[in-house]
Amino acid sequence: MRILVISDIHANLTALETVLAHAGEFDAAWCLGDLVGYGPDPNQCVELVRGLPNLTCILGNHDAASIKQIDVETFNPEARLAIQWTCNVLTEGNLFFLGNLPEKMVIGDVTLAHGSPRHPVWEYLLDTRTATVNFEYFETAFCFVGHTHLPVIYHLYDEQKAAQLSIPDVNSYLNLSERMILNPGSVGQPRDRDPRAAYAIYDDEMKLWDYQRVPYDISSVQQRMIAAGLPERHIQRLAGGW
Ligand code: ZN
Repeated sequence: MRILVISDIHANLTALETVLAHAGEFDAAWCLGDLVGYGPDPNQCVELVRGLPNLTCILGNHDAASIKQIDVETFNPEARLAIQWTCNVLTEGNLFFLGNLPEKMVIGDVTLAHGSPRHPVWEYLLDTRTATVNFEYFETAFCFVGHTHLPVIYHLYDEQKAAQLSIPDVNSYLNLSERMILNPGSVGQPRDRDPRAAYAIYDDEMKLWDYQRVPYDISSVQQRMIAAGLPERHIQRLAGGW
């Protein structure tokens, strides 16, 4: 199967549509959470994701906050403002969809989580020490995560040693080998100083990871954010990829 792996869309419809057009045909879609928060198009993004073929979708921290599963006070003031705006505009049907997302899933030899296998909704895998510990919290060969908005791979070659961090090359068709934690990067708010939308295609038979970046019309998203009265900082960061 050719599986689209997306994460951290953050209500950015233009980035999501661009990724879907760029990805071409796929048999299934795995979405690692944070469909909403920050961006101007929460309903459109949730509805587009809901319609993807053979969808598996995981709950992110912004999704959880938008359905009031977690306290918005735990977010910084600007993120909180965006979450409150999102809460107000989401339709009943989309709130219901977000409210029923699982925190973690296992499909074949892959575990799916938003943040980490240990603390699926919240933990950030930002360093090899944290990643190494997390290999004890899933049993499959691979684990796909989002949350940091950084496209990276942690590889545990030897259970006795620390995991190694690498950053994949775009369009590199990486051959996966046990055991790995992989992050496809963020569709709607990349934070690696590359503003292009990020995603991956996973071939579960060949065990191939095809990591991709694609430019999209950032200014049109910024215009909609201005019109919605969303925080200036979130508008600015899209253009710089931070
Ligand atoms: Zn996120």
